[in-house]
Parts: sequence; structure tokens; C-alpha cells
Amino acid sequence: NLTQRLAKVVKNLRGQARLTEDNIAEMLREVRMALLEADVALPVVKDFIARVKDRAVGQEVVGSLSPGQALVGVVHKELTELMGGQASGLNLASQPPAIILMSGLQGAGKTTTTAKLGKWLKERQKKKVLAVSCDVYRPAAIEQLKTVAAQAGIDFFPSTGEQKPADIAAAALDHAKRHYYDVLFVDTAGRLAIDEAMMAEIKALHAQLNPIESLFVVDAMLGQDAVNTAKAFNDALPLTGVILTKLDGDARGGAALSVRHVTGKPLKFAGIGEKLTGLEEFHPERMASRILGMGDILGLVEEAHRNVDQEKAKDLVQKMKSGKGFDLNDFKEQIAQMRKMGGMSSLLDKLPAQFGALAQQAGGAVEDKSIRRIEGIINSMTPLERTKPELLKASRKRRIAAGAGVQVQEVNRLLNQFEQTQKVMKQFSKGGMAKMMRGMKG
Ligand code: GDP
Ligand code: MG
Repeated sequence: NLTQRLAKVVKNLRGQARLTEDNIAEMLREVRMALLEADVALPVVKDFIARVKDRAVGQEVVGSLSPGQALVGVVHKELTELMGGQASGLNLASQPPAIILMSGLQGAGKTTTTAKLGKWLKERQKKKVLAVSCDVYRPAAIEQLKTVAAQAGIDFFPSTGEQKPADIAAAALDHAKRHYYDVLFVDTAGRLAIDEAMMAEIKALHAQLNPIESLFVVDAMLGQDAVNTAKAFNDALPLTGVILTKLDGDARGGAALSVRHVTGKPLKFAGIGEKLTGLEEFHPERMASRILGMGDILGLVEEAHRNVDQEKAKDLVQKMKSGKGFDLNDFKEQIAQMRKMGGMSSLLDKLPAQFGALAQQAGGAVEDKSIRRIEGIINSMTPLERTKPELLKASRKRRIAAGAGVQVQEVNRLLNQFEQTQKVMKQFSKGGMAKMMRGMKG
């Protein structure tokens, strides 16, 4: 983790007023390692380091910042800029229907993302959306689009494996025009690896349709390999944007930087789950934090806001930050919110790596399916017991277990988990999340 790595180096640099080639050399090595660990492709890392060096050398170290903090600031800013600064939405400014062509390798997430984006446009922008599949090689792929389109509440234009992609596209476009659709998504076939036939086909479709958006969909888990794929598609097609999928997984996010670097095209959206709600606008600044191993605090907060009552979310984040007064009521609240936010695993992804590991130890035992039982047990406690868990001696535990219809051991297990979580909360305050975030601002 970059923050930890730099902390070591930074110690040696106190009291220096300026970033020089000498004093940043060691730090840049750490940055380089962090980027490689985050799966950024090597040539991209080299370019990036050169850029940062250019920017950093000679810079004054202002105020209370250490040179290390100043450098992390430069790195973070530069990463953010490289990934496109501000998020840019979809461009639909064409004669209707606005055509959106989806391209990418098989399994990248084209079909899923088509439905996600269709849902997004329908629900947020009240667009009338039609989707068609030109994936004639895998009949199951056409069926899949039909299914997810129905789930997304958008219309589906049928096609079959016997048709030619060009004919399907022409028929769908004609239908979309005659029925006044605002948007037409054209989902295409992908192969497992780049091949000439696939490239020729998608090129022909592009020439035929002249889409206003030509989106390249890429799996963030591809890491380094994302570079070659992105390059091939970018050479073949005038792409207008990139969608990075499966960011809910272990991907460290390096693919974002690599793909942006080789295509120069904006990263528009991020896929963050298999469900059709698992889509968000791409946030370069957060991705920069993720790549640097800072975790995605802002994302956590935003997700919390989306899924739960805003006030409660604010309280929770506040408590996480302060680590104070965390009692069983909060524990219950936290567990309920985790359930709404898609379970422990999705929450843990959002925390900075070191806290994530801690929380994993403590809360990992909280299987999503046992959440309701935990809630049941806490419900059986009196309000006083919830705020003062230390009151819970044997007789009270027996009463609670009976009330919740569980064994006393289960009550004990819950109290253990609570204590572990409380410890994590204290770590949050001691570890100085605020301090860390300040370091990032550089
Ligand atoms: P296509 O071959 O490019 O059309 O890819 P699909 O849309 O069929 O997606 C391939 C697999 O990836 C499916 O199992 C999807 O559910 C899954 N998938 C797509 N996007 C995401 C995402 O953002 N997160 C996760 N976890 N899975 C995704
Ligand atoms: Mg597909």
C-alpha cells in the first residue's frame, strides 16, 4: 500500500523545503511499485512516473506538508487528470434515435452494460430506449439481452442467429425511427481474444450506423492485458468512450489508467455489480485513490446516501471517523445498512486496504445471511443493554437468547463480533482517517 510505503520514506525527508530529483527518487520508486501492484501496464507506469517527476521537481513544499505528502498530492492530482478530470456523461445529441454501439471482448460485460445504461437513461432521463443484439454466433447471447432488457424495462428488438449483423442493425434502426425511440443500443459479438473477423465486423457495423456513441466495454480484472485490447479496438473504431466493468471485484483499478492512456478516450461509466443497478458514472478522483490504495471513502459515502436514509448514513460515517460511542444500536444500524448496501463484501471493498483487512477479520464472520438473526438478538435487548453492553451478564444473556429464540452461545458470538467491530472503529479514529485524507489532498 502506497501510503504505508511512503510513510517510511517520508521520515527521511522532513525539513526539506523543496522537491528535488534526489529527494523524490526513492519515493518515485515506491509510487512505481504501487502502480504496478495496482495492475497498471508497465509502459504506462514509465510515462506516468516521468510526468510526475517533471511536475514535482522544483515544487515548493508548502506549509505543514512533508515532501512525501506533497509528492502524493502531485501523484494523486496527476492520476486524476490522466483519467480525465471530470466525469463526462453520454452524448445523445443526434437526430433520434441516438445510436450507441457497444464493443469489447466476450465476457467484458457488453450485454449487461447495455441493460444497465438503458435503465439509467430510461429512469433518469425519461428516454425511450430500444436494444438489439448483433451477436449472431451465440444464440444464448441474444436471449440474454432479451432477458436483461425486460429486467431493465427497456424495449428489445428481436434477432436470430440466422441473420447477418448488418441486416439486424438496419432493421432495428428502421424500427427505432418509425416508433420514435430516443436511443438505440446495438450490442455486438465479442471473441475471447482479438481477431480479424471480429474487428472487420464491428468496423462495418460502425460505418453502417455512424453511432453518436461508440463505447468500448472492458473488464477491469484484465489489468495489464487491458492495454492490448483497448489499443486494438481504438485502432479499429473511432471510440467515443470507455466503460470499465467489474470494479466491484478485486481489480485494483490499474486498467482504468492503462486504457485511458492508450485510447485517450474518456472513461464514462463503471460497472460495480452484476445487478442492473450496478453502474455509476466514472469518478477519476476516486479511481486515483483506489489505485493508490487509499480506498474509496467518497464512494462509500455516496453509496450509503443512495441506499439509506441520508441522516443515518451521515451518523454512521461520523461514528466511523470518530470511533466514539459506538454501541449495539449502532452495530445493528450498521448491519442493517450493510444489508442495504449489498452485504459485507461490497462494503469492505470501499474501505482503505488496511482498514478493509481489519474489518474483514472482525466483521467477515458476519455472513450476510445471518444478519437477520443478529438483528433479532439485538431486538431482544432492552434499550439500556444496547447502549451498555457491559451489563450483559449470564442471566440477561439467557433472557435475550430465549427472547430471540437462539442459544446463549449465539448471543456470545454476537457480542464478540460487536467488540471486534468496536475495535475496528477505534482503529479508524486512531489510524487517523482524517489525517490520511489530508495527506492525499497534498
Ligand atoms: P458480454 O459477453 O460482453 O456481453 O458480457 P456479459 O454482459 O454477458 O457479462 C459477462 C459476465 O460478467 C456476466 O456474468 C455478467 O453478469 C458479469 N458482469 C458484467 N458486468 C459486471 C460488473 O460490473 N460486475 C460484476 N461483478 N459482474 C459483471
Ligand atoms: Mg453479450
